[in-house]
Amino acid sequence: MPKVLSQIAKNTVIVIAGASGDLAKKFLYPALFTLYRRGFLPQPVKIVGYARSKIEHEKFIEQVTANIKNPGDDPNFVAELESYKGILSYVAGSYDDGAAFDELNRYLENIESSYQSPERNRIFYLALPSTVFVEVSRNFKEHVYSTAGSNRLIVEKPIGSDLESALEMVQGIAEFWSEEETFRIDHYLGKEIVKNLLPLRFANSIISGFWDSDRVSNVQITLNESFGTEGRGGYFDSAGIIRDVIQNHLCQVLSVLTMERPVTLAPADIVDEKVKLLRAIPPVKNEDVLLGQYIGYLDDPEVPEDSKTATYAANVLWINNPRWEGVPFILKAGKALNEDNVEIRMQFKNSTKGLYDGVARSELIMRLEPGEAIFLKLNIKTPGFDSGVTTTELKLNYKETFPDAFIPDAYEVLLRDVLKGDHSSFVRDDELEAAWKVFTPILHWTDGKDGVTRPVPTQYAFGSRGPEGLDDFLAKYGVKA
Ligand code: NDP
Repeated sequence: MPKVLSQIAKNTVIVIAGASGDLAKKFLYPALFTLYRRGFLPQPVKIVGYARSKIEHEKFIEQVTANIKNPGDDPNFVAELESYKGILSYVAGSYDDGAAFDELNRYLENIESSYQSPERNRIFYLALPSTVFVEVSRNFKEHVYSTAGSNRLIVEKPIGSDLESALEMVQGIAEFWSEEETFRIDHYLGKEIVKNLLPLRFANSIISGFWDSDRVSNVQITLNESFGTEGRGGYFDSAGIIRDVIQNHLCQVLSVLTMERPVTLAPADIVDEKVKLLRAIPPVKNEDVLLGQYIGYLDDPEVPEDSKTATYAANVLWINNPRWEGVPFILKAGKALNEDNVEIRMQFKNSTKGLYDGVARSELIMRLEPGEAIFLKLNIKTPGFDSGVTTTELKLNYKETFPDAFIPDAYEVLLRDVLKGDHSSFVRDDELEAAWKVFTPILHWTDGKDGVTRPVPTQYAFGSRGPEGLDDFLAKYGVKA
């Protein structure tokens, strides 16, 4: 059980391993800039990029700030960006050579030599392919660990490809880093609507009151992407859609959505409830899975021409506890679909027969993307002389309701949580294990592991809603259009 960490407020170096890569450029450096200009980074702070590529300082700065855009016409933006560039630097070195990490350590010590007090905090981000996670975390611990302050290690996904490999990686890192020092990122946990699930449920007794199998018929958690593999076919083909986004992101959303009320809002209490919930979910059964592959996927030069990897999947999960027994949770995701959106859709049971038969079901819809929103779909009397029933929505559209609110990106939220020492939106070791237990059997089936015949996904057109048979599949679990 991780102990509660304190906030890091001063004397900090953030080291990003894999700083030459895509994640660093697209998300991490822009997110750190937001925290910097909003005053959320400790003072003094430096951000040191580390990777093997030899990159000149100017080129590196250009690379990692290219995706930082002025969010409006903020007159301070240019000056703040220039100031931010002043805290960035880059060190080239290998991932497997202790001497290179000693060199990095000397570089950090030089930065730290200007501190006014002895405290030296170091945050390490593994923005690297997972094949080198264990080795780099060992080298950070053995060569670059601060002995005079807090050390925190942020680990990206994927952690493993099934239960066994995930446990191996967790244990490999745990040999060097304690659980409280380790922050396993699932960036979906940093999304505004996911962070809002606890207050929505537990700060509103009316909502807590309908959050169970007495009222809820089924829940869909959906992630639709309109694009295909786009040059990542090689990686994607070995992962598949279930491993890529369902086992981690959608399963994490499910656990926050359905967990019991935590005793307090302390990170350990929240994560304890998530783990209990995940442990109540039996492994997904083959018959509760629908698989699809978009037409055109096999044209990707990195994808084998006979690939059976699913680019679409719907998985139905059941929760064996009194609150949720009998309610299907349908986690579905796909590439090359007709839209880009991520939402949670809770569909309520039919109203009692005899008065308004045949009306639509009420639904609570929480949209994570694009544009945070919460809708409650309700039946009301058709306005006017008409006495019939019309379906309408109570809408909370964040942009309209809070036009001046700044809604941070998930990486901004989570990097700030690391600084605060708040583990509530990170994946604990036992939580990761529980989530892999749910999905490992179907992943072994879809991988064709140990000579099992791989299921053949149904083909679907690029830009369509998904594989034919989707509506029948959903109807089997009580979803009503
Ligand atoms: P990249 O493929 O861009 O790799 C990051 C850096 O790691 C590269 O610039 C390269 O740096 C080094 N690298 C690449 N391949 C290898 C290798 N085989 N062995 C050792 N080092 C290698 O990855 P991303 O930046 O896209 O992702 C980093 C991590 O974040 C991954 O674990 C990924 O799964 C995860 N992630 C990424 C997202 C994204 O949008 N990109 C989203 C969510 C998670 P150099 O050669 O200079 O050392």
